[in-house]
Amino acid sequence: MLRQTLAALSALLWIVPAIAGDTVLNLYSARHYQSDEALYDDFTRQSGIQIKRIEGNEQALLERVIHEGENSPADVFITVDAARLAQAEAHGILAPVDSALLTARIPAHLRSAHWYAFSTRARVIIYNRRKLNAEDVPTYESLADEKLRGKVCSRSGAHPYNLSLVAALIAHNGEAATETWARGVVANFARAPKGGDTDQIKSVAAGECAVAVTNSYYLARLMASERVEERNLLKRIGVVWPNQASYGAHVNVSGGGLVRTSKHRAAAIAFLEYLASDSAQRHFANANNEWPAVPGVTIDNPDLDTLGHFTADTLPLTTLAGNLVKAQQLLDRAGYR
Ligand code: FE
Repeated sequence: MLRQTLAALSALLWIVPAIAGDTVLNLYSARHYQSDEALYDDFTRQSGIQIKRIEGNEQALLERVIHEGENSPADVFITVDAARLAQAEAHGILAPVDSALLTARIPAHLRSAHWYAFSTRARVIIYNRRKLNAEDVPTYESLADEKLRGKVCSRSGAHPYNLSLVAALIAHNGEAATETWARGVVANFARAPKGGDTDQIKSVAAGECAVAVTNSYYLARLMASERVEERNLLKRIGVVWPNQASYGAHVNVSGGGLVRTSKHRAAAIAFLEYLASDSAQRHFANANNEWPAVPGVTIDNPDLDTLGHFTADTLPLTTLAGNLVKAQQLLDRAGYR
């Protein structure tokens, strides 16, 4: 018994200094893709830095890191949508990173002083092919046209995806015009806003409404679905890249940054830099059917290729972030809830 205890103790004495010498990075991530494990393992192999992943849904994780404040064990915070990244930044959760590599790799419009985008997605218009043609809904602005009365489905106006889009519209068209637009869209609702993007796709396919907006990766996800009824949804809908004759399709991101209270700054920055490498970019984007944030990195994703190529809005996401409060207030006034 005593021998066993001593053996166990000596084993512990060997192990403890080894763990203490190793850095363990606490990664707060709203991404929950099995395939991300391979990415983290690869980083650990290259750097010797272990990753401890704390997962949560996007909103819960954002609230957690905000509430933990000074005591947060988080080193790196990763989430989706510029609206959430901007909220984390506004709450002082993130610290600036001095990295020539990240500055060189991530385009200026896809980063702020406190966070970097690592993948991009487009907010596209989808329509029921029996009810509309692509020419009926070429732009976000067209969703307010009177001819679409009773034809538009939407998720909540308070959701970050819609807040970000409206914040971008404010930058392009001004606040007054965007409020008029929001009132027009509300007047066109087929039903009160509800559900997520996939629910809007289903509603359009079912003909409950004729048009809606969705993030691009939900379409690619359905294309790759093992369920034939999900793949069949796509036969009934058309996809429009919005605003191709003007500022381009609204692009949002998933991204992350260094948590201000991190005790492992160097390791955290090394991880962020790793995410900007070609191979990590390819993997990070493709896991959710997105596009890499780093220019020139290509991915092999037939479903995304099916969606085709498009002109993306290059509005700086920091400009968008600056309009988020206005966007929320404007949507409230317009009754877009
Ligand atoms: Fe999403």
